[in-house]
Amino acid sequence: MRVITTIKEMQNEVLKHKRLGQSIGFVPTMGFLHEGHLTLISKARKENDIVVLSIFVNPLQFGPKEDFSTYPRDFDRDCALAEGEKVDYLFYPSVDEMYPQGPSVKVVVQERTDVLCGKSRPGHFDGVATVITKLFHIISPEKAYFGKKDAQQVAVIEGLITDFNFPIQLIPVDIVREEDGLAKSSRNVNLSPEERKQAPVIYRSLENAKRAINDGENNPVVLTSLIKEMITGESNGQIDYVEILSYPQLRPLEKIDGSFIIAIAVKFSKVRLIDNIIIQ
Ligand code: AMP
Repeated sequence: MRVITTIKEMQNEVLKHKRLGQSIGFVPTMGFLHEGHLTLISKARKENDIVVLSIFVNPLQFGPKEDFSTYPRDFDRDCALAEGEKVDYLFYPSVDEMYPQGPSVKVVVQERTDVLCGKSRPGHFDGVATVITKLFHIISPEKAYFGKKDAQQVAVIEGLITDFNFPIQLIPVDIVREEDGLAKSSRNVNLSPEERKQAPVIYRSLENAKRAINDGENNPVVLTSLIKEMITGESNGQIDYVEILSYPQLRPLEKIDGSFIIAIAVKFSKVRLIDNIIIQ
């Protein structure tokens, strides 16, 4: 595995592989790798000649009061894990390399941002779309792998690929969970031991809502109340949102129908966790 820190070198390497007709699979991350990331990487490994993993904690997608400075980082551990998954290139640029004069052009996401994380994190998806546009240009993969844990991100990036005509196929990957159901996240290490015990209630509340739907409940208001009661009753987490929306359009639903997402964000003292289930 080669670690590359400059855009120029990364582009030169990509060009060499393109000339040889080799396919490139790309996995963008912010590092502090866990099994969720490794699942994306191993899928990319199976489906492409060359795998590029990027690790970049993108300041543009964090709000001023968010956890950019405390976001967990461990480059040496990440390198060992990436090596174990047979990654070919680890692209690891600095903030200065990616934004030498700060961004002079920004991608602004127009649709699907007035709900869920787009609503509670203003500007977040503009930051995501801007960095992903840059990374897509630098790496020009045939396939890019994204986790469904960030389901709104998957929908936004699908829109970006379509609108900007990137010749890239987005491969969505199922959520990887801990044994107790908590969605794996780099941020889980910043939970206190007590919060870590409480956090699986998020997934339990999703499963509970799914059971209620199977038993015939089809009113989103009733279902979101069920979820909220369970989370507030069984944890100290502060609910940021519980929403049921059509998926991938992310529009409000009068009643449960078609393909939809139940999405939750809960804030514990230092960590905001998200989770969802998509039901077709
Ligand atoms: P992050 O480093 O958190 O930005 O995540 C990088 C990629 O890994 C994103 O596409 C995430 O959706 C995906 N990812 C993160 N956690 C999980 C998980 N538990 N299961 C599946 N994919 C995940």
